[in-house]
Amino acid sequence: MAIELKTLDELKVMRRAGLIVAQMHQAIREVIKPGMRTDALDVVAAAVIKRAGATSNFLNYHGFPAVICVSINDEIVHGIPGSRIINGGDVVSIDCGAIIEGWHGDAAFSIGVGTVSPEDQKLMAVCEESMWRGIAAGKNGARLSDIGFAIEQYTNSQGSYGILRDYGGHGIGSQMHQEPHILNFGKAGQGPVITPGFVLAIEPMITRGSARTKLLGDDWTVVSVDGTRGAHFEHSYCIAPDARPFVLTAPDGGKAELGRLGVEISDLL
Ligand code: MG
Ligand code: MG
Repeated sequence: MAIELKTLDELKVMRRAGLIVAQMHQAIREVIKPGMRTDALDVVAAAVIKRAGATSNFLNYHGFPAVICVSINDEIVHGIPGSRIINGGDVVSIDCGAIIEGWHGDAAFSIGVGTVSPEDQKLMAVCEESMWRGIAAGKNGARLSDIGFAIEQYTNSQGSYGILRDYGGHGIGSQMHQEPHILNFGKAGQGPVITPGFVLAIEPMITRGSARTKLLGDDWTVVSVDGTRGAHFEHSYCIAPDARPFVLTAPDGGKAELGRLGVEISDLL
C-alpha cells in the first residue's frame, strides 16, 4: 500500500489534533500522583478531548475500552485503565491520541511518580532521547530505516537495554496506523526515501532487561517476560512542504529538542 502524503492544509489539521494530544499529556502530568487509580487519568484525558471537540482514536480501537493506555513498571505498552492504584516510585507510561476532522494525532510519554530510582530515571531519559534521535535522523531525503538505526545506536550506547522487536512506529494521517511500519532497530539506508508530506509516529519502547515480552490475559497489556521495567515515548512528526520537520504533537513543534540536535524545524505550521 502506498504511503499517504499529506498536503500543507492536511498537516495544519493534524497539528490541531497533535496539540490536543499534547494537552491530554499536560493534563495527566498535572494530576498524576501516588494513590490514584489509573482510570482517573482516563477521565482527565477524556475531558480534554471532549472540551476540544475532538474524538478518541483509542476508544473502541479493536475493542480497546478507554481513551488512554496506562502501563506501569513491567507493563510496557497497551495497559488498560482500571482500578489499579499508582504507587510512589512507579514508572507510568501513558499513550493517547485524538482525531480532528478525520485526521489523527498519537503520542506517548513515561513519567516517574513520586521518587523513582536513578536507574528508572535513566531508562526514561534514554528512551526519550532515542525518540528525538530517531526523529532527527528521519529527515527529508533520509531512508526510513535510518530512524531505527539511530534509535538503536543511541540506546545501545547508553547501557544494556532491551528494545522491543514486535512493536514499532508507524505512518499516521487519515488513520492512526498506516504504512510504513517503523522498526526501532536495524541497519541504516533501507526502505522508502522520506519526503515532504510524510507523517510518522516514532515510538521507541525499551526495558532495563530483555526485549522479550508477553501479552497478559486481558489480551492488551504487554509486559516484559523478565519483569524489568519499561519506558515508552512517542511523537508524531511530519516533513513539511519546505522539506523541514515539524513535531505535530509537541507544543513547540520540536524546536528545542531538534534544535539541540542541529535540526531546524519548519515554520509553515
Ligand atoms: Mg503510535
Ligand atoms: Mg501511541
